[in-house]
Order: sequence, then C-alpha cells, then structure tokens
Amino acid sequence: MTLLSVIIPVYNEEELVVELVQRLQKSSLQVTETYELIFVNDASKDKTLSLLLEEHKKDGRVKVLNLSRNFGHQAAYTAGLNYSKGEYTVMLDGDLQDPPELIPEMYAKMKSSGADIVYGRRTDRKESLSKRAITWLFHKIFDRLSRNNQGDVGNFCLLNRIALDAFLKLNEKNRYLPGLRFFIGFNQDYVEYKRPDRSKGKAKMSFWKLVKLAFDAIFSFSKIPIRIALILGILGIIISLTGIGIVVYKKIIGVAITGWTSTMLSIYFLGSVQLLFLGILGEYIFRIYKETQNRPVYIVKEFWE
Ligand code: UDP
Ligand code: MG
Repeated sequence: MTLLSVIIPVYNEEELVVELVQRLQKSSLQVTETYELIFVNDASKDKTLSLLLEEHKKDGRVKVLNLSRNFGHQAAYTAGLNYSKGEYTVMLDGDLQDPPELIPEMYAKMKSSGADIVYGRRTDRKESLSKRAITWLFHKIFDRLSRNNQGDVGNFCLLNRIALDAFLKLNEKNRYLPGLRFFIGFNQDYVEYKRPDRSKGKAKMSFWKLVKLAFDAIFSFSKIPIRIALILGILGIIISLTGIGIVVYKKIIGVAITGWTSTMLSIYFLGSVQLLFLGILGEYIFRIYKETQNRPVYIVKEFWE
C-alpha cells in the first residue's frame, strides 16, 4: 500500500528537475518508505522528460505521466491526482517554490490536528514586486468575491484519501484547484511558509496564463460580476427617469436645453458600459460552452510506473 503520493506538474524544468527529485526523495522518506513521486510532464520541449526517465530507472518510486500536449498547470495536476494511489497525497509545484522539506511538517500537522487537508499559506514571497502586487490583488478580489478567507494560498497541500476522492468527483472543465479545494470543505488546516523565488529557470506560467487562471477563478466562483451589471442597470434607470423628469419639466416651463457634448458623452459612456457587460456575460457563456463540449481536461500519452 502506497502511503504517500506526491503530484508534481513539470513544464520545461530541466535546470532543476534532478535536484527536485533528490529533495523530494529525502523529504518523502521522512514520512514513509512507501511513497511515489508522480511527475506529470506537461509536454516539455526540453530535456525534462529524459532526465525524469533516468531517475525512474534508478528508483521505481519515481513515476512519470506524460501528457499528449501542453494542457497547462491545473490540468496537469488533475491528471496526476487521478493516478495517485496514496493514502495521503501532496500537490507540489515543480519549480522548488513549494519547498519539499515542508512535506513532513504538513504530514505531522495532519496527524496532530486531525485535519483532512493541510495547505501551505504564504507569509512572504521572494518574487518580483510586480508579481507580488498582482497576486496580492488577485487574492484580495478572489477572497472577497468567493467569500473565501484563505489568504495567499496556491496548490501546495496535503490531502487524505477521503478529501482527495471528494476532490476528484469535481469534474468541471474550468478548474481553479485552490478554490475547488476550499469548496469541498472537510477539516482544513495550514502550515505557513515563506515562498522562495524559483531557484532556476523562468516562470512557466506566462502573464497571460496567470490572467486566464485569475478569470477562471473569479468567473467559476462568483456571480458578482454579472450582478454588478444588474445593479448598475437599475441605478441607470433611476438616474435616467430623474433626468427625463427634469427635462420634461424644463420643456413645460419653457427653458431650452442645449448640449451636444453631454448627449454624445452619455451615448459613448452607456455604449461602453454595455460592451463591458456583454464581455462579462460572454465570459460566463464561454465557460458554459466549454462545459457542454465536455472534452477531457487532459490526455495521457504514456505512464511509466
Ligand atoms: N507548469 C505546467 N504547465 C504549464 C505551465 C507550468 O505544468 O503550462 C508547471 C511548472 O513547471 C511548475 C508549476 O507548473 O512546476 C508552476 O509554474 P510556474 O512556476 O511557472 O508558476 P507560478 O509560480 O508563476 O505560479
Ligand atoms: Mg513558480
């Protein structure tokens, strides 16, 4: 029986993947000898896959799940989670920003507090100011919109079997895993850590991939963006009715009203507001479309186990 599974998505991580395997082996061993490290190769274009296969030959507990193309970080995690055989499962980013050394601490916390899920909460980040500012803003907005109060958390966590099985039942296509993990409930606890910067290599989540993830998070957990349209619409009607009243009254008492500028500006303004909310509506409709297409979240090419 495998006691501990660690799921690690990797995309072009040749500079650090060997160090990652070694550090994971060391820290997993502190929990149990019966562990498995499932690396999900998200169609890396560099030597990541061949380096991992060498590690697999040396130690059968290093397993490699190879996806048919690049499906993205959240899909890669989902693939790995489906292959986990562990009584306990860890989700860990493959760039050493989630320190493998924290795994024994998470496990100890789970044992002592009786939690079903232990996630890592970042108290500090050693990343660029702009990245820190963007993630801070995202977590503020997301926590507020989804009525979730987790703070700066990511995928890094430990789940027991009951929590993982519940998590795997969620088969929506737009996946923001930290939000879904919050959604399933159970007893959740956390360990705090300072998030280091990547030790090597560039961030594989480009700015646009991060924006897409933020949109997935917000639109799949909140109806507030469309509700704003409704509230603004109601406010607009009240303001227009008042305006109409004033104009009609002035007409009756014979005061002429001029104003090309105000007319044009309100047309432009209302036009843009309508486009904005058409766009927001589109975000929801697009996601409904994705759900109805029901395409798989990922496709596996090979599995070395
Ligand atoms: N990753 C992936 N597929 C992608 C992009 C990233 O599997 O399309 C992996 C990457 O190798 C890393 C983890 O996901 O192990 C997090 O990526 P990154 O460090 O770029 O994200 P960030 O730290 O900016 O969230
Ligand atoms: Mg990273």
